[in-house]
Amino acid sequence: MGCWRGNVRIPMSEFDLIRDYFHWQGAPDSVRIGVGDDAAILRLPPKRELVISVDTFNAGIHFPPETPPHAIGYKALAVNLSDLAAMGAEPAWFTLAISMPEANREWISEFARGMRELAQQHGIFLIGGDTTRGALSITVQVMGFVPTGGGLLRSAAQDGDLICVSGTLGDAAAGLAVVQQRLQMPVEAAEYCVRRLNYPTPRNVLAGVLGEYAHACMDISDGLLGDLGHILKASGLGARLDHACLPFSPALLQLPEEQRLGFALTGGDDYELLFTLPAEAFGQVQQAAGELGVKITAIGKMDKNQQGLLVNYAFSDKRRGYDHFSSN
Ligand code: ADP
Ligand code: MG
Repeated sequence: MGCWRGNVRIPMSEFDLIRDYFHWQGAPDSVRIGVGDDAAILRLPPKRELVISVDTFNAGIHFPPETPPHAIGYKALAVNLSDLAAMGAEPAWFTLAISMPEANREWISEFARGMRELAQQHGIFLIGGDTTRGALSITVQVMGFVPTGGGLLRSAAQDGDLICVSGTLGDAAAGLAVVQQRLQMPVEAAEYCVRRLNYPTPRNVLAGVLGEYAHACMDISDGLLGDLGHILKASGLGARLDHACLPFSPALLQLPEEQRLGFALTGGDDYELLFTLPAEAFGQVQQAAGELGVKITAIGKMDKNQQGLLVNYAFSDKRRGYDHFSSN
């Protein structure tokens, strides 16, 4: 049995897969119509604006093909939740478009489990999607809310703001190097870094406190320097970064300094938040974040008199995405 959808033949069993793995029970009141009809119908809360973001995840490009399906499901949603966190938005719903070479129930079951566990933690609900055959590719679109007129923008940094990050940097890039056998680490450190690669922690828990105090905010997906460059450009300011302040995990502290700085500055996949704060708010924000279980660290300062980004560290080679300066 089968039916035709566009020019892609989908056996009936794939409709069963949607029913079994993607049609979740327990929809919130905001979902009037979810999975199962031609489109979802959603109820918008008063005095809120809708925040939407989408990211595609291709096997072999955005994740190593051997990544466990549980981690793929988790991470495809995690990176999108991170975009909502970066906007200071409260998660509400998401859609999932998945293309896969075959309908392997074991694989899909693990994939859906990883995704659902994270969705439940964050109170975000799957409201629809699309299931097709093709090379493995996953597209998740998240939707959330900010109060009317709210939201944390890249363009809102101010002169003199402290530049801060959540968590630790460079772990995921080290994890990728381990998976790709470019880096050897002691077993425990290697496992930690691979876990940070496969299971990034989106920092949505900080959205409330950052919504109150932060000026600019974004998430770090492509390495600190390139991403901070976006804030500088959007805000029309320069900045100074002190490499000696960058927060590292015990695992990365085992690496030579230059190597861990390379992972933190130009590696990707951290999904930590990068934000700017008026200096006088730092203590309060640090304490509030600490109570939520997240370390935040000040790593530099926005400076209107600085041309571009001054990184207070002498690298042995010049890499794309930032200017090289020796110490000032
Ligand atoms: P349509 O013809 O409306 O595109 P589909 O057969 O693609 O219908 O999907 C049927 C229903 O299942 C729709 O409500 C759709 O949103 C939902 N759906 C399909 N694939 C997924 C998925 N991977 N995750 C969640 N919902 C899905
Ligand atoms: Mg469809």
